[in-house]
Amino acid sequence: MNYRTDKYGNKISILGYGCMRFTQSAGKINIEKAEKEIMEAYNSGVNYYDTAYVYPDSEATLGKILEKNQIRDKIKIATKLPHYLIKKSDSIEKYFAEQLKRLRTDHIDYYLMHMLTDVKTWNKLKNLGIIEWISEKKKSGAIKQIGFSYHGNSEMFCELIDAYDWDFCQIQYNYMDENSQAGKKGLQYAASKNIPVVIMEPLRGGRLVNNLPKEANEEFEKYEIKRSPAEWAFRWLWNQPEVTCVLSGMNSIEMIRENVKTASEVQVNEFTEKEEELLKRVAKAINSKMKVACTGCRYCMPCPQHVDIPGTFAAYNRRYSDGKMTALKEYFMCTAMRKDSSAASNCIECGKCESHCPQHIEIRKELKKARKELEKPLYKIGRKIIKWFKIY
Ligand code: SF4
Ligand code: SF4
Repeated sequence: MNYRTDKYGNKISILGYGCMRFTQSAGKINIEKAEKEIMEAYNSGVNYYDTAYVYPDSEATLGKILEKNQIRDKIKIATKLPHYLIKKSDSIEKYFAEQLKRLRTDHIDYYLMHMLTDVKTWNKLKNLGIIEWISEKKKSGAIKQIGFSYHGNSEMFCELIDAYDWDFCQIQYNYMDENSQAGKKGLQYAASKNIPVVIMEPLRGGRLVNNLPKEANEEFEKYEIKRSPAEWAFRWLWNQPEVTCVLSGMNSIEMIRENVKTASEVQVNEFTEKEEELLKRVAKAINSKMKVACTGCRYCMPCPQHVDIPGTFAAYNRRYSDGKMTALKEYFMCTAMRKDSSAASNCIECGKCESHCPQHIEIRKELKKARKELEKPLYKIGRKIIKWFKIY
């Protein structure tokens, strides 16, 4: 296993265990299977385990396994505060205490604000006394390091990076999201501030492995070096020195072994130009199946009405590549889970964006279509709930 260091010089395995989806049997987590998998990863050198308050039964399952095998102090736990559920200052402590109990520990190594979407939301937490709470927890040793996980665009990500003295952060990143989400720009910005970056969605929820278009598979097959699509995706990430740890939701021993093997072999900056070109061709083949040929370059931004144009198109494309629910979830996270909506329906059709688009996309027309597909009643209800309960 290869390791990289966090802000304070601690060694983190470059492969982290994403505990969001342990295998279920009859509607419950199969704890024997989860234990075997966690222990396989642990014995192979994986020392970073990522969970969250809202992942069903995940914290409690992880806590049980770590305690039973007496490995709590040999690994690092990352978990997340569901700040969007918090209305009063004392709720912060309540959630945290419950998390410690579930995880059967007295401290959290890496504690994240879950899905922090904008600076306004962070300011809301500041008004509830989060800064004082964090410093008290850090002083007592109950929290070792503070970070945030993020879905959204690179501009807001950079603003969030500057909004506090973070110890680390977590972003969605893969060879398809080089120019969307926080993107390479966000990754490099965080690294320039000496903030380690943990990567989630390295395979875009499995999309870079399952049901790849024929043309993408052909590109891999005809390349001189034979690697699985997953291995290519991981190698592309680990090639970048700014990437500290890549999370993978591994739910088979074979998958763990394959990822561990790759994580033990890779070196920074070993990718050749030819290999970069290969992944660009694969990305192009995947994009060619997309509804809108948006590359996420962001030349059309900012929109005076705050529409997240590339975010909308990314979710719209996912509607056709990864299914309705994935797209709705992504669109909701990108446009609704924030104080000021960045939904396609904010568009007033001023046309300012279109002259900047190198792909000559008819942005106004495509936004209308995307809005029709993505702003369904469920989205609107969700947005109303956010407003009523002042979640963001
Ligand atoms: S046309 Fe719509 S999306 Fe484009 S800049 Fe104007 S308001 Fe924004
Ligand atoms: S300029 Fe065009 S390709 Fe680039 S992000 Fe905007 S819509 Fe997408």
